[in-house]
Amino acid sequence: MTIKESVKKIQNKETSFTELMEYYIAKIKNKDTDIHSFLYVNEEAALREAKEADDNYSSDIHGSLFGVPYAVKDNILTDGIQATAASKILENYISSYDATVVLKIKGEGGIIIGKTNLDEFAMGSSTENSAFGPTKNPLDLSRVPGGSSGGSAAAVAAGLAPYALGTDTGGSIRQPAAFCGVVGFKPTYGAVSRHGLIAMASSLDQAGTLTQTVEDVKIIFPTIAGKDDMDATSGNIDEEGLKKDPSDLKIGVVKEFFGEGLDSRVEKKVRDAIDIYKNMGADIKEISLPNASLGLAVYYIIMPSEVSSNLARYDGVRYGMHQKENHPGGLWANYLKTRGDGFGEEAKRRIMLGTYTLSAGYYDAYYLKAQKVRALIEQDIDNAFKDVDVIISPTTPTLPFKFGEKTEDPLSMYLSDVYTVIANLVGLPAISIPVGNVKEDSVELSVGMQIMAPKKKDLMLLDVAELFEKEIN
Ligand code: GLN
Repeated sequence: MTIKESVKKIQNKETSFTELMEYYIAKIKNKDTDIHSFLYVNEEAALREAKEADDNYSSDIHGSLFGVPYAVKDNILTDGIQATAASKILENYISSYDATVVLKIKGEGGIIIGKTNLDEFAMGSSTENSAFGPTKNPLDLSRVPGGSSGGSAAAVAAGLAPYALGTDTGGSIRQPAAFCGVVGFKPTYGAVSRHGLIAMASSLDQAGTLTQTVEDVKIIFPTIAGKDDMDATSGNIDEEGLKKDPSDLKIGVVKEFFGEGLDSRVEKKVRDAIDIYKNMGADIKEISLPNASLGLAVYYIIMPSEVSSNLARYDGVRYGMHQKENHPGGLWANYLKTRGDGFGEEAKRRIMLGTYTLSAGYYDAYYLKAQKVRALIEQDIDNAFKDVDVIISPTTPTLPFKFGEKTEDPLSMYLSDVYTVIANLVGLPAISIPVGNVKEDSVELSVGMQIMAPKKKDLMLLDVAELFEKEIN
């Protein structure tokens, strides 16, 4: 059920909030032993809150999220509930406050059904980096659900929650949405507060949603968006949606994103979807982002640099795991032991890379250079948006891959983000929507299409995405 369908059932008195919650909890118990999308099910509190919702409900005062269950990626703080970031170093950590995004949904009466799995500290594209075991793709259990918000995407795809929150630093909402056949929305940088998100790379991190439909995103987004005093980088978005007729829409198709490395079956589905816009009368223009090919390289310098700095706080004293070394190394030895035992391989790899790229002597050659190229990419984007309203591309170059296929070669894993990192580097809103299936090994896998819009044009972007959704349904 979508959010819209759940709310309708409540309004028509076909179900109570308690029954709705019981339905989802039973489904999790039944299906999630295979999928492993949840790290924690908030059963007791969720049922209690659902009962309160039944007692307090009145359709004329409550909005569309009231009493509706939702799942939260486990790197988002939820007061009194665990937030592990799927890392051993935070295994027993309980949040002491709510992230702003959670607080806002709480204000509307939304109920947390559980916390979802991810790649450790949101680093990865397959959920295989979770310290607590991978999540499986509900469309094909032998394949990855994508990452790092793989748990949130799989939970929504499997119908274990009507919607879920995720975070996206380089594609972690959009790529798993594409792999699992759901809608993944990363808002403009700062449009949803970062307060209470476990930081990965602060200039790129953004909270967003995983849903079954674009229509549902439009229900949640107004609740969670907006400037927050607790996050100095947050801000308000443009309140106008799409003001044009579809026939006046100008859509840019990035020529560099349809080249080498793109699976021809993915390309076919995305081109077919672009034709749907064309049939609505939209003007489809080929555009060039000359520096886009550098996006991934830039991302994999800036992101680990910020990771190395953000993850310095896990020292075994302030948060989570504390390991004691039994030799006279003192505090320093305890730090090393805690971090050595607590972080997984990918987190360590990135901390080391980032420490290197920020170190004296290398800072100019790597970090500063990367920031300069980031500015060039932003210029490319600004130029492109002089001619077009939105930019369309595939979300991912490939279909969902099998477990273990890319774990031995981090670089091939990093390539999964080749089309998504640009939106984070520049701060654009971007969405992945399902555009069709491809059969492989006799299973139907899903293909995602990405649409990007200028900064703060989130509502326009959602309107454009919804045009497609309405046309195919
Ligand atoms: N897959 C990318 C990475 O590993 C993106 C992660 C993210 O968006 N959190 O860094």
